[in-house]
Amino acid sequence: MIDGHTQLVGLIGWPVEHSLSPAMHNGAFAALGLNWRYVPLPVEPGQIEAAVKGLAALGFRGANVTVPHKRAVMPALDTIAPDARRLGAVNTIVVERSEDGEVTIGGYNTDARGFIAALREGGFDPQGRSAVVVGAGGAARAVVSGLLWSGSGGVTVLNRTPERAQALVSDLGRRPEDASRLRTLPLTPENLIASARAADLLVNATTVGMWPHVGGSIWPDTVPIPAHLTVFDLVYNPLETRLLRQARESGAHAVGGLGMLVRQGALAFEMWTGEPAPVEVMREACEQALGG
Ligand code: NAP
Repeated sequence: MIDGHTQLVGLIGWPVEHSLSPAMHNGAFAALGLNWRYVPLPVEPGQIEAAVKGLAALGFRGANVTVPHKRAVMPALDTIAPDARRLGAVNTIVVERSEDGEVTIGGYNTDARGFIAALREGGFDPQGRSAVVVGAGGAARAVVSGLLWSGSGGVTVLNRTPERAQALVSDLGRRPEDASRLRTLPLTPENLIASARAADLLVNATTVGMWPHVGGSIWPDTVPIPAHLTVFDLVYNPLETRLLRQARESGAHAVGGLGMLVRQGALAFEMWTGEPAPVEVMREACEQALGG
């Protein structure tokens, strides 16, 4: 029941109506018997600063932040965690209130840690292993950053627009020990096949294969995916993408993107509530919302 004690969190984005996060978090609150609710908060571009002030004024405990506000929200926050600053993107806000009523609005990013947790859960430890990441948008930045801090041996970033991959590498490779583990190549079938053959992990961080264009795949049909690879597709709608099917059919190990969504959500849930997140409940709520 919603009453005077109900605690609120929400999702700031534009648009927000297709997000799985309300189902995932409300399912988790219900499972733990917490009097909390998670609501969609559509915020037009240009209104993000007012929205963040409004969160604090309305007594919200926090929020997630999604496209197109992940970078634009940063100047409106009081503190920004180092991993969010490194990525140049905030996906989680925590509103802290001290005993004397002082409010601090903190920005965090749980995408990189969520990716690594999902990757390990999928049976792949990135320590000392090499990876190929296709894509250079916000999700690819989180993936590459997570791979670097978890000790990956080397990361090759391939992107359709090579300049974007170069920008990613120069932003995330500021420390020499990171720069020496990063390289970029233009996304061509030849570059993809050659670099994947020499790697342990292939990550799709593009929108290719996502609903409604479910026939798309970054991998060409004419060549089997090397069977020694773990293939992680960040796309989670559909749950079974064409790339994952290609991976399974050629004997490679396939991991879908839902685990990352759930793990980044679980980290946010724990920051807001201080309770361990019911990860399996959250996963089932997402699958149900996807009609799976
Ligand atoms: P984004 O910033 O818009 O980046 C999109 C990326 O896809 C760019 O690298 C873009 O290349 C590439 N791309 C788009 N169409 C392409 C095509 N036809 N051929 C080759 N490359 C193409 O998006 P994002 O926020 O990074 O999200 C990327 C994907 O990750 C989405 O499917 C999103 O749903 C998924 N995601 C999943 C999770 C999760 O928790 N599982 C979290 C975040 C995102 P250009 O630079 O050349 O345009």
